[in-house]
Amino acid sequence: MQTPPAGVVIVGGGLAGSLLALALRDQGTAVTLIHPPVESGAVSGSATEISYGALPGWPLAPTPLARLAAGASRQWRQLQQRHGDLGWRPQRLQLHGERAVLSVVSRWLPFSQVDTAVLMARLPVLLAAAGVQPRATRVQSLAPAPAGEGWDLSLDDGATFRALCLVLAAGAGCRTLWPMLPERLRSSWAAVLELPAFPAGLGRSAAWLPQRFARVELERRAATLEQLDWVVDPGLVPRGSGALLGQLSLIRPGGALEQPPLPAQSEEQLRSGLASDPWGAAWSRQPGRLRQVPVAFCDGGAPLVGPVPQAQGLWVFSGFSAGFAQVPALAPLLAQRLAAAPESAARAERRLQQLGVWPVGG
Ligand SMILES: Cc1cc2nc3c(=O)[nH]c(=O)nc-3n(C[C@H](O)[C@H](O)[C@H](O)COP(=O)(O)OP(=O)(O)OC[C@H]3O[C@@H](n4cnc5c(N)ncnc54)[C@H](O)[C@@H]3O)c2cc1C
Repeated sequence: MQTPPAGVVIVGGGLAGSLLALALRDQGTAVTLIHPPVESGAVSGSATEISYGALPGWPLAPTPLARLAAGASRQWRQLQQRHGDLGWRPQRLQLHGERAVLSVVSRWLPFSQVDTAVLMARLPVLLAAAGVQPRATRVQSLAPAPAGEGWDLSLDDGATFRALCLVLAAGAGCRTLWPMLPERLRSSWAAVLELPAFPAGLGRSAAWLPQRFARVELERRAATLEQLDWVVDPGLVPRGSGALLGQLSLIRPGGALEQPPLPAQSEEQLRSGLASDPWGAAWSRQPGRLRQVPVAFCDGGAPLVGPVPQAQGLWVFSGFSAGFAQVPALAPLLAQRLAAAPESAARAERRLQQLGVWPVGG
């Protein structure tokens, strides 16, 4: 067993783990980030990688957290000012759906987007520059260390690692590591088609999004599902030199992370969902590569941000419904609560309470 590293150990280097690591470095705290090497192929591990990265500049619900999330562009702009290009930029929005008036109005709504091809390429560079210690492996399991001295992690590379303060930011992998997390943290499978170029027929680049996301409604029903259910949201956003098309969301009863659906079956569902939508039909045969990932969400809306009940030294940062809007605001607050002096940490805790995300078991 190695000597435990000082500071905080984070499991998962998607959006949540990475922005939390940066925020902790801002507090002067040492951070080790454990993250598996990037996988290739149809199934990979990170929701962040294939996210639309859409940032609506207005609240999507009448809650303090949604109001905060509506201002996420400001946080992304500040992050870019400090760390260089992260893929964030103002974007043209084109809503499509039944209400024609919304389609027209959408062009003037405040909207921006994070290009996840840029973000994923830049994150390792800026984490290294910020002094975050990387550990390129997967955590197989974790257990409380003897005498309450933190947590012992078994790693895929055969090593064992002790963490005095451990944060689970492993998205859909969180529950596999610690099954006693609150039930409202669930998992779905998401799939998109990655297109080599933005379709020329749509003119200049824009985010084409449905007026209502069926995924949100499906996630709300997750706790009551008696059989597997899936929906397709017909969106299209630029990503790198190409685009992401469609979004298949598939949830199994109980919302546990099980084997991924067969890629061929997911592609068939995704394309048939597009074909049955008045806007999506034109794009349902578009050549593209299927990308499929597991996604964590909370059926009650509020994500898990804070210490895990009855597990001293174990924290969780996961279950975001709109991570790109929520994480940039919540990560600095959680870092402040974890690492700042008592008075400042107490202020952060009060703010997390006001936002309805504290305590985790509440
Ligand atoms: C198709 C799609 C479109 C989306 N569109 C939007 C959008 O427009 N706007 C928005 O705000 N949000 C959107 N989201 C949601 C957003 O992408 C997520 O909220 C966000 O990316 C979650 O980040 P995360 O870091 O919590 O999880 P992830 O990105 O999934 O990261 C978790 C990481 O933990 C790692 N991990 C898991 N288990 C282990 C382990 N045992 N050991 C070590 N590492 C482990 C995984 O490999 C992964 O890299 C979308 C999601 C999808 C799938």
